[in-house]
Order: sequence, then structure tokens, then C-alpha cells
Amino acid sequence: MKILKTIEELQDIRKNINSNVGFIPTMGALHDGHISLIKKARLENEIVIVSIFVNPTQFLPGEDLNTYPRKDEADKKICELCKVDYLFMPEISTMYSEEEILIKAPNKSYILEGLARPGHFDGVLQVVLKLFGIVQPTNAYFGKKDAQQLSLITQMVKNLFLPINIIPCEIVRENDGLAMSSRNVYLSNEQRADALLLSKSLYLAASLVAKNERDTSILTNKISEIMKNLDVEYIAIVDREFNEIKTIELNNTIILIVVRFGQTRLLDNIWI
Ligand code: AMP
Repeated sequence: MKILKTIEELQDIRKNINSNVGFIPTMGALHDGHISLIKKARLENEIVIVSIFVNPTQFLPGEDLNTYPRKDEADKKICELCKVDYLFMPEISTMYSEEEILIKAPNKSYILEGLARPGHFDGVLQVVLKLFGIVQPTNAYFGKKDAQQLSLITQMVKNLFLPINIIPCEIVRENDGLAMSSRNVYLSNEQRADALLLSKSLYLAASLVAKNERDTSILTNKISEIMKNLDVEYIAIVDREFNEIKTIELNNTIILIVVRFGQTRLLDNIWI
């Protein structure tokens, strides 16, 4: 595996690659969720490129940009073990210039995650577009865990006619059901135990759907009931384009939950 620190190095290498390139953009502190994306890319492409870049433009003032977990050495080992070909770790100063063309995410990026973090998705789309320009992947891998992000990136690729396949990947969980996240390290033992209610309530909702419950308000109430002692930011039931729905549509529904544990926001969702 080669570690590339500059954009020029990657561009030089990319020029000489004529086979499929699988790309996994990350912010590092890699866990089994990221690893599952890398393994899928490894199976489906001749060349696999992972980026680690904690992108400042997607953090709002007061968020955890400066304390976001960094584990560069462990991440390098993980990528090596996963047989990544190139690990791209650019400096912030090389990724951004003083004056930037800005990307404005569509209105639907200002609901749910975008309501809580206005401008977050502008920053996500901006950095992903830059990375796509540098890496020029054939296939790019994103987790369903960040469902709204996945939806917006899919839309960006479509709207801008980018010749890239966006590959959605399943959510990887701890054995007890907690969705893996680099931010789980922020949780105290007690918060970690309470956090299990997220997946528990999503599984319950899915089991009710399996028993033919289709009314989203009933499902939302059941989830709220389980979460009643937690600081729930939102429970939403949307279609795959993020329109709120009143009736469950099989194979076209996502149930999303966000709960605050102090400063930490935990996201989870289930695709129905
Ligand atoms: P991040 O490093 O948090 O920006 O995540 C990089 C990629 O990994 C994104 O596409 C995430 O959706 C994905 N990802 C993060 N956690 C998980 C998980 N538990 N399961 C599957 N994919 C994940």
C-alpha cells in the first residue's frame, strides 16, 4: 500500500490506471463499518483507494472538528491489512484555496440532519466533489448509516452527470446492535447502555411493519415510547428521497432516529 499525502501524487498515479477504481472517502478513526466498505470495494475493483480527510467545511462552529478522533497510525495498519492500494491523506491547505466555488445542497438537505446542522451538507458535497475530481473513481462506496448524505451524493452525481457509480453499503453494528461510529468513543458507559435503545426501537418498528403495521404515526409513537427517557432530536419516517410519508412503502422507506447524549449526536436508521 502506498500512502499519498499530496493531490499531485495521486493525480500522477491515477493517470496510469486504466482499470476500475473503487473509492471509499472517510474521516478516519476507522472501524468495522468503514472496513466493510473497503472489503466490498476490494471485491469489486482492481484498484482500491481510501481517503482520510477530516473536512473542516462540513463542521459547524462549535462542533467537534478539533477533537474529532484521529488514529492515523492504526488507520494505516487497517488499510494495509485490507489490501488497499492507495491511502490518500491530504492536508487541509492543499484541498482548499482562499476563494472557493461553493456547492449549495438542495432544499431537502435543510431538513432532519440539515436542520440540526445547517450548511453541513454543503460542506459534505463540496469535499466529495473535490475528492471525486481527484480520484475519478469508477465506484464510490457510502454507508447507509448516513442515509441523507448517501441520498444527496447520489443526487449530486446524477445532477452533475458524474460518471461514477454510488454503491450503498449496509450498516455495520456492534454485537449488541449499536451502529458503529467513530463518535461512539465519546459515550460514557451509561450513555453507551442507553444508546442500545436506538437499534432496539428500530428493530421493534421493523417487526411491527412485518406484522402489517403501515401507519407511520403509530410506528413513531412506539419508537417515542421506547425512547421516552432520552433526549430525542428527531424520529422520522421518510421515503428513499427523504419525503415524509404517512404510510409505509415496502422497499422505499427509511426510519431514522437521532438522539443527543450530551454533546454527542447518535444517528441510526433502518431501511424497510
Ligand atoms: P465517516 O468516516 O464517518 O465520514 O464515514 C465514512 C463512510 O463510512 C461513510 O460513507 C459512512 O456512511 C460509512 N460508515 C460509517 N459508519 C458506518 C457503519 N456503522 N456501517 C456502514 N458504513 C458506515
